Amino acid sequence: MSINALRSVALTLIVTVLPVLAQLRFVLMSREVVEQRLQSYKGNDSRREAALKTMFESSGCRGNNLAEQAVKGLKQPNLICVLPGSADSTIVVGAHFDHVDAGDGVVDNWAGASMLPSLYQSLENQPQRRHTFLFVAFSGEEKGLVGSRFYVQSLASPELAKMRAMVNMDTLGLGPTEVWASRSDPGLVRP
Ligand SMILES: [Zn+2]
Repeated sequence: MSINALRSVALTLIVTVLPVLAQLRFVLMSREVVEQRLQSYKGNDSRREAALKTMFESSGCRGNNLAEQAVKGLKQPNLICVLPGSADSTIVVGAHFDHVDAGDGVVDNWAGASMLPSLYQSLENQPQRRHTFLFVAFSGEEKGLVGSRFYVQSLASPELAKMRAMVNMDTLGLGPTEVWASRSDPGLVRP
């Protein structure tokens, strides 16, 4: 995927989530915390998954609400953090944490993955939240969406039926926020 395409994806994702988040009051995370999490990219994908797990736990997502899902054919699992809501419907917020061998993969996609714990934290104490949020750090995206495909295939029909939206973050921070409109649900992208 080209850089431009990745930028488009990132923008697509952010724009998609804004209408949903606009209905919520959320806690702003400090720039220091976001940057500190961004700096914890070092190491291979296993270390990155472990770093994400630690970040989720320190954000308050732990115990039964945090789970590693072993993915067939991959060394690293998907990491799933549940933020329960009052309603039965769900919103998935995802970002892949794996990276290609060339480079450090900070932009693609530690920038997205390291945001997940902060998004959890910003919504955790929001009293009027109805949807259950599923923050999912996906493994094996660069191998061909292996982790995300496995995740979807692991869900039973009733669980899939509860999903109201999926917001995917990829390659954040290269420029202005963009949405990959042609790959998005029109109902979510329309202002
Ligand atoms: Zn990516």
